[in-house]
Amino acid sequence: MCPISSYDDQAKALAAALPDARLITDPDVLASIGHDEAEWAPVGTPVAALRARSSDEVSRAVAACADLRIPVVPRGAGTGLSGGANAVDGCLVLDLSGMNAVVEIDTDNMVAVVQPGVVNDDLKKAVAEHGLWYPPDPASAPWSTIGGNVATNAGGLCCLKYGVTRDYVLGLRAVVGGPAGAYGTVADLGRRTTKGVAGYDLTGLFVGSEGTLGVVTEVTLRLRPARRDAPRTVVAPSTTSSPRAAPSPGSPPAGSSPPLSNSSTAPAWRPSRNGSTSASAPAPRPTCSRA
Ligand SMILES: Cc1cc2nc3c(=O)[nH]c(=O)nc-3n(C[C@H](O)[C@H](O)[C@H](O)COP(=O)(O)OP(=O)(O)OC[C@H]3O[C@@H](n4cnc5c(N)ncnc54)[C@H](O)[C@@H]3O)c2cc1C
Repeated sequence: MCPISSYDDQAKALAAALPDARLITDPDVLASIGHDEAEWAPVGTPVAALRARSSDEVSRAVAACADLRIPVVPRGAGTGLSGGANAVDGCLVLDLSGMNAVVEIDTDNMVAVVQPGVVNDDLKKAVAEHGLWYPPDPASAPWSTIGGNVATNAGGLCCLKYGVTRDYVLGLRAVVGGPAGAYGTVADLGRRTTKGVAGYDLTGLFVGSEGTLGVVTEVTLRLRPARRDAPRTVVAPSTTSSPRAAPSPGSPPAGSSPPLSNSSTAPAWRPSRNGSTSASAPAPRPTCSRA
């Protein structure tokens, strides 16, 4: 362990250990990327930030920080609402937003391989050009990154029917390490096949771990076919403002895949003449284009 007395000394030691890295030490820039959207959460002062460009660079940064006893705080777009991307005193902020390449779209197997800084909506657009769809839709999808979505297991309105981020992560590459192994180790976890049942589900463990298990540097994602029929929005009726516990008369048949719903006092489901159900009134506030 290096005897380091000040932030300047720490930054210099880090720069010496990472001669090719573009370290950021400007206090204004550090202040701007040293926190997320949780205004209530405490924020520390970082020693430096690094806008990572590759898995290898992340590996070297994590190893150097371990040697220097400098904590590492990974960061995507900083849209988190829990302070997870907030700097702690004396840390390196590891900004993954620049690693934003869609590495591969495998249309035959409906799989995408992406770097962690790809913005959710950008991925959706990229796969849509191939007739495919990536369903997880946090409301921050125009800004938040896949790496951040993986770290927080993000989900939006579509999760009710199509699942959350964890349901779409087949595998990932992560820079890990700890007392039992070398810091900076690059680990490939998971699979890219539809079926994968052997062994521990380390990929699933990683999803939602908020950067505590390692830094995600590549993600292999399951895709779905894009819907070609016209989007439909379905609204379930509710006459009270309290949460609904029981299905209302005329609600979709038991066992059917639930529609994405919004609350409304105007009835929207009504039985049709043949006894099935159908949507009637237009939705006041469309929630998701996939019914
Ligand atoms: C307007 C708005 C709407 C939102 N709506 C939703 C919503 O509908 N559903 C929802 O789930 N969340 C929502 N959020 C919260 C936030 O957008 C999500 O948590 C999102 O997944 C964070 O992504 P990010 O790229 O901004 O990550 P950041 O905020 O930068 O980081 C979030 C966490 O992930 C870690 N992390 C980031 N990248 C990596 C990486 N590559 N490897 C390891 N750890 C990493 C960070 O250390 C931190 O702990 C919303 C936020 C806002 C501001």
